[in-house]
Amino acid sequence: MTDILAESFRVYGQDGGGPFVLVSDHAGQAIPPSLGDLGLSAAERARHIGWDIGIDGVGRRLADALQAVLVEQVYSRLVIDCNRAPGHPTSIVVQSDGTPVPRNQNLDAADVAWREQTILHPYHNRIAQELDARLAHGRSVVVVALHSFTPVMHNVARPWHVGLLHNHDPRLAHIMIELLRAEGLVVGDNEPYALTDTSDYTVPLHGEQRDLPHIEIEIRQDLITHSAGQAEWAARLARLLPEAWQIFCTRYEQQP
Ligand SMILES: [Zn+2]
Repeated sequence: MTDILAESFRVYGQDGGGPFVLVSDHAGQAIPPSLGDLGLSAAERARHIGWDIGIDGVGRRLADALQAVLVEQVYSRLVIDCNRAPGHPTSIVVQSDGTPVPRNQNLDAADVAWREQTILHPYHNRIAQELDARLAHGRSVVVVALHSFTPVMHNVARPWHVGLLHNHDPRLAHIMIELLRAEGLVVGDNEPYALTDTSDYTVPLHGEQRDLPHIEIEIRQDLITHSAGQAEWAARLARLLPEAWQIFCTRYEQQP
């Protein structure tokens, strides 16, 4: 097991030769020392606006179970959102879910460029490196983007246990939706969010633009707040992702 903490990302797990590369854009809560606490209380920073609650525990257990590499962003999405293209209106949020972020107000171009160059680009370059290395050896690659969502947004309870987001290539997502529904779960199909060309960055960049099979999973946060739920979901995904990939390869005549 490797656990290398670099500048803005953490590479966890070991490549056991399978197709899956796991990525967690919002796993981290760190803030660069130069930005202090962003002007937010610890309680605000710990909310869903700061990170994807529980996904770190799911991702690492899943990486262990699949013998796959997980690339995690270390820094809080409130510093810069690594699932947004550079310059996107919500790349560096001035407010999130009703909470103004004082340290993000009136940033100049140099402030923005520093966050992109220190946090956003190294993380995505590291993911690209992981994919390139496999493709260079003629291996199949499946990009798996892991997220979690808050159970209540704008006073509306969200019914889905899990959601799959897709856009230009929904094939693997649709297979996974079928498998999850067969478990008796309430599964969102492009819920609680729909993937569009501009909504997200990681799957469009590493999956769609490179024409690599991909999947974007959102798990409801109350199900994975504690370690038992994280273990349950990691075990479920470790069972269903290879099954989904097998179905995909058979159905679309893809090399496994
Ligand atoms: Zn997320």
